[in-house]
Amino acid sequence: MEDCDAVEVLICGAGAAGLTLAIDLARRGVSFRLIDRLAEPFAGSRGKGIQPRTLEVFEDLDVVDRIAAASGPYPPQRRHHVGGGHDEAQSFAITPPTADEPYRTPLLVPQFRTEAILRERLAELGQAPAYGRELRDFTQDAEGVTAQVAGPDGVATIRCRYLVGGDGGRSFVRRALQVGFPGRTLGVRAIVADIVLEGLTRDAWHRFDDGDMARQVAFCPLPHSRLFQLQAPIPPEGEPDLSVRGLQAFVDARIAGSGLVVREVAWASAYSMNARLADRYRVGRVLLMGDAAHIHPPTGGQGLNTSVQDAYNLGWKLGAVLAGAPDALLDSYEAERRPIAADMLGLATDLLEKAKQGDMRRGRDVHQMDLAYPSSLLSLDLTGRAAGVRAGDRAPDVPLQGAGGQPRRLFDLMRGPHWTLVGRGADAALPPPRAGLHSHRIGPGDAFRDVGDRLATAYGMADGDLLLIRPDGYVGAVLPAAQAARLEAYLAACLPA
Ligand SMILES: Cc1cc2nc3c(=O)[nH]c(=O)nc-3n(C[C@H](O)[C@H](O)[C@H](O)COP(=O)(O)OP(=O)(O)OC[C@H]3O[C@@H](n4cnc5c(N)ncnc54)[C@H](O)[C@@H]3O)c2cc1C
Repeated sequence: MEDCDAVEVLICGAGAAGLTLAIDLARRGVSFRLIDRLAEPFAGSRGKGIQPRTLEVFEDLDVVDRIAAASGPYPPQRRHHVGGGHDEAQSFAITPPTADEPYRTPLLVPQFRTEAILRERLAELGQAPAYGRELRDFTQDAEGVTAQVAGPDGVATIRCRYLVGGDGGRSFVRRALQVGFPGRTLGVRAIVADIVLEGLTRDAWHRFDDGDMARQVAFCPLPHSRLFQLQAPIPPEGEPDLSVRGLQAFVDARIAGSGLVVREVAWASAYSMNARLADRYRVGRVLLMGDAAHIHPPTGGQGLNTSVQDAYNLGWKLGAVLAGAPDALLDSYEAERRPIAADMLGLATDLLEKAKQGDMRRGRDVHQMDLAYPSSLLSLDLTGRAAGVRAGDRAPDVPLQGAGGQPRRLFDLMRGPHWTLVGRGADAALPPPRAGLHSHRIGPGDAFRDVGDRLATAYGMADGDLLLIRPDGYVGAVLPAAQAARLEAYLAACLPA
């Protein structure tokens, strides 16, 4: 085709989902283009809660320490009473790391910082989003997708083997595919604004209401900045004035005599809350991820996290199929991720109802650590056991010891775009080496040792057992020694020959 750029994957939307997918594809050597119609990166704090499971993903993508440095702990919720005084409560129990869960407490990082760190990582991999590029049209055929992208020099044609729509709640890609987005409008409209504010301390997430949650105003201090994130419900009709003067008047009207002074507005927006789920995540060579596939209220801090994890589930599958693995592997993306989003919509909507009653406490269910794919076709569990870690579960970390005596972790062996096969003891029958698979026999005389039988305990592994961990950190297969021969057929379905 003439005058046509060709890449393996075109990613539409450089939000958290698009950036995560781009990093994963870049480290796999997949050629892609990442476009966004914005002229420059998104500047708002919106999704500011990074959950423990996403921190594990970020460890694998080599950004977790930068995210932690940019973060702060969740401040306590301070509820101010009318006429003075307040009460205070932690919204999360702060729980220390354990050997199998190195991240246990959500971190507070404004979305613009998270995305900046992801762009930084992408730059290290030699790539960058192309801003000011809008996907306007696309058609697909048996071999690929032809996309029309409007940019500063006019409309360009990009030919790709797969198109991924990570283009947000109003997704052009989803609408162009005519994929339904059923659900409901929740009847809650709110403003969110990043402001410089005088009159509040930065040691708490301040909430003001006069007994009426519909008149609540909350100010969350954003770490390592002068900003507070203001969130407040507003009436369904009318355009709010989001200027300094407009927000000052809003604050004065909601909190009589507070003396709070709005000095600057760095970013502001008004939005209506919806809970909606795309009917399909894949139509031929086009896939949907992130808010393009699911939207829900911000309560519980699930949206950005679910979007990152969609991309992380999709990245290795796209990489494998592009390298020659069966195309059916891509069907497992919708089969695994759509039920997770359906559950998350229920969770976020329940938490919205609780927030309306003033209950801001959050439990382990928002951490996303217990998400699993037990009924996925990719989960092969031949142990016959009903308890303990099973195929489809998140792979817990385990402390190991290198043969030289150095401390090592199972997560160290998993880090990177490959699959990880662990065989316990000298009887474990490891297959011959192959691209994309790292195999380790763990036991005396091997490169790694299971000091204190932690691997055996965490995974319930007996001598000779094999444990296969997917590139996205979920257990793919657990094979007792006697069934090790089943491994080859499993690998053939997921890895290029
Ligand atoms: C007030 C608020 C608080 C929130 N708090 C949390 C929280 O604590 N934790 C959490 O996990 N989530 C939270 N969220 C949700 C979170 O912000 C979103 O889920 C997240 O941004 C989704 O990421 P995404 O990459 O899928 O989409 P987006 O971030 O929406 O990115 C989509 C991108 O696609 C681009 N685009 C659109 N159309 C086109 C086109 N045709 N061509 C090219 N580019 C296009 C857009 O410009 C945009 O940059 C919150 C949201 C709100 C509103």
